[in-house]
Amino acid sequence: MAAEAAAEAGAAVTVLDHMPSPARKLLIAGRGGLNLTHSEPLERFLDRYGPARDRIAPFIRAFPPEALIAWCEALGQPTFVGSSGRVFPHAMKASPLLRAWLARLAAQGVVLRTRHRWVGFGPDGALRFAAPEGERLERPDACVLALGGASWPRLGSDGGWTALLPDVAIAPLRPANMGFAVAWSEHLRTRFAGTPLKRIALRFGDAGTRGEAMITVQGIEGGAVYALSAPLREAIAAEGSATLHIDLRPDIDRDALARRLGTRPAAVTLSNHLRRTGGLAPVAIALVQEALHAGAPRDDLAALVKALPVTLTAPFPIARAISSAGGIAWSELDERLMLRRHPGIFACGEMLDWEAPTGGYLLQACFATGRAAGRAAAG
Ligand SMILES: Cc1cc2nc3c(=O)[nH]c(=O)nc-3n(C[C@H](O)[C@H](O)[C@H](O)COP(=O)(O)OP(=O)(O)OC[C@H]3O[C@@H](n4cnc5c(N)ncnc54)[C@H](O)[C@@H]3O)c2cc1C
Repeated sequence: MAAEAAAEAGAAVTVLDHMPSPARKLLIAGRGGLNLTHSEPLERFLDRYGPARDRIAPFIRAFPPEALIAWCEALGQPTFVGSSGRVFPHAMKASPLLRAWLARLAAQGVVLRTRHRWVGFGPDGALRFAAPEGERLERPDACVLALGGASWPRLGSDGGWTALLPDVAIAPLRPANMGFAVAWSEHLRTRFAGTPLKRIALRFGDAGTRGEAMITVQGIEGGAVYALSAPLREAIAAEGSATLHIDLRPDIDRDALARRLGTRPAAVTLSNHLRRTGGLAPVAIALVQEALHAGAPRDDLAALVKALPVTLTAPFPIARAISSAGGIAWSELDERLMLRRHPGIFACGEMLDWEAPTGGYLLQACFATGRAAGRAAAG
């Protein structure tokens, strides 16, 4: 996006990427349908960036969701708004969009060089690249760094750049939108790893969300967990663990559920009671049983079903996270996204110190900061 904005502004642009082909993470994002952006009102949209809201806002105001949608549609990929308000291309994948985009960039004169890894600055400020034919020096008039965060490193963004800017303040890259480790019993792990928990609600402190999650061998992950992942990560860093509460029946209130579960005939097992009367799926029943084994009180089953405590002991590693928190400190950047200590070098996307939930907020902020950095670099 930075390359396109710079080329539109009249610059001669070369993109250098260390992978054999470009935009691998965008292609993987396409596996989930390519959630480009979100249709909610802009002020609410901007709130999703939390503490970085005011930093990100000018870039998104300059390239808002409507502009991103128009950009996508101009590349021959009509979009639609899903029931959750999220925006996707009709194709529900990234490859046709990427193909059309690369063709347009080539027509604009943008040159793409793959297998070129940026490895730092030379003594005279030149950009050093490790290329198949050996080291190569580039001395462009301006450079936009768009090297990503550190999630899914096999797709290219491995966070190695953090060591290449030793004079720049960088908040450590941490996982964002990730799952968490839980010490499940052997029974739960072997019987239910890979099982989705559908139509649940999660609560942590004041924050709550509805959606789905997945039990895994090591813990729990999925959209609803990702939505609370930032406060959970911070709580674990401060306290060593965090207790997440799962509402296994969010569509029925506690009193009504208590009335249903109140009396269990002696001949009916707890599992059957929870299944028939409580309407719980086998995985949900196993979670209730697990909590009872761990000492949860047996006299208020409805309370347990509505707020089942699960102790999270650690975030999943950044390599498995959807995105990264942390990055180049905003104090290191001017309002055009140029590095104050490296005039002519700009940065954008996940390299910068912000995070947001899933829902299209990640790509929107990457594209918006990319456009701004590209245009400013051309200027
Ligand atoms: C599974 C998955 C699904 C996702 N789904 C969505 C979604 O639906 N919606 C959404 O908004 N977001 C989604 N995201 C997040 C989104 O893809 C990222 O936020 C976004 O791609 C980040 O863009 P970026 O340009 O900052 O970095 P990246 O897309 O990571 O690109 C960085 C580029 O820099 C290159 N690079 C890194 N280091 C060097 C180096 N030293 N030298 C040369 N090149 C280098 C890499 O090869 C890569 O091509 C998803 C992420 C994942 C992992």
